[in-house]
Amino acid sequence: MPGPQGFRIGFDVGGTKIAVCVLDEAGNYAFKTEIATPRNDYATFLQCAAEILKVAREAVPGAAGATIGVGIPGEIDVVANTVKNANSTFLIGENLETDLERAFGQKVRLANDAQCLIASEVQDGAAQGAAVAFGVILGTGVGGGIAINGEAWRGNNRLAGEWGHNPFPSRDGEIIGSPCYCGRNNCIETVLSGPALVAAYADATAGEAAQLPEIEAKVADGDPVAREVLSEYIDHLGNALATVVGVLDPDVIVLGGGVSSISSLYRELPDRVSAHMFHSAPTAPRFSTPIVKSKWGPDSGVRGAARLWPLPR
Ligand SMILES: [Zn+2]
Repeated sequence: MPGPQGFRIGFDVGGTKIAVCVLDEAGNYAFKTEIATPRNDYATFLQCAAEILKVAREAVPGAAGATIGVGIPGEIDVVANTVKNANSTFLIGENLETDLERAFGQKVRLANDAQCLIASEVQDGAAQGAAVAFGVILGTGVGGGIAINGEAWRGNNRLAGEWGHNPFPSRDGEIIGSPCYCGRNNCIETVLSGPALVAAYADATAGEAAQLPEIEAKVADGDPVAREVLSEYIDHLGNALATVVGVLDPDVIVLGGGVSSISSLYRELPDRVSAHMFHSAPTAPRFSTPIVKSKWGPDSGVRGAARLWPLPR
C-alpha cells in the first residue's frame, strides 16, 4: 500500500541510465535523480538500485513505506518469472522482480516502458481522465501500452498493448518491414521506429544522412523528398494504429518517443488512421479519437513507474 503521505517511488531502467523519482500524492517530484546504468553486470545493477532507493528514502521523510514501481525496456515471462524481450540484455533471463524485492525489502511492480508511459499520461498528462487510453513509444524501438480507468493494464501475459512486434499489416502480401532483432520479420517496429524513418529518408535520397530533427526541418521547409518520406511514414503509422482501433478503440492515443516530436504527425495522422479503418458504408469512416503528444516526454517512464501502484481511494 502507498506510504502514509501518498508517496510513490518510480524506477525507469534504461539502456544508458536509471531514473528514479519519488512522487507525492499531487504528482510533484519530492525527489528525482539519474544514474548511469551498470550495464552487463546484473549484481552491480541490483546493488546500485538498492543504494539509490536508500538515498531517495533518506531524502524524503515519509517515503519509507512508499510503493515502488519499476519500468523496464522489456517484458516479464509469466511462466518463468524472468525478463525477456529486453534491449538491456543484461536483464534477460534474470528473476528481476524477485531479486529487486529482495534488494528493496518490499514488493515491486514491474511493467514495460510503454505501459509506464500511458500510466503516467492517463493520470496527469495528455490522456488525463480517459477511460481507455493507448500509448505508443516511437523511439529506438516501438512499443505500446494500455491504461484502463486510470491504471496501466498489463494483461494476463503482461503483454497488453505490446503491438510493436506484431506483423506490420498488409492487404496484398507486400512486406513493408524488415528482419527484426526479435527473430521475426516485418515487425511494426521495423517500419515505425525512429531509425526506420531515418533509414527511409536515406533510401529516398540515395544515402543522404539526416537525423529526425533535420528531417522535420526539411519537411517544414517544403523539401519534397522529406515530405514524401514522412507522408509515407504517417500512412504506415495510421495503418498500424487502425489495427489498435479495431481491437481496443481507445478514447485517446498518446504518442511518445523521439518521433513524437514531429508536429505534422498530429495534423495528418487522423486521416491516415481513418483511411485504414474498417468501413463498408458509402460515407467516410468516422474517426474522432484524439491523437496527442505525451505531456511528460522522457519523464513519463519514471512517473508512470511510480504510478503502477494506485493511491488509496
Ligand atoms: Zn520484432
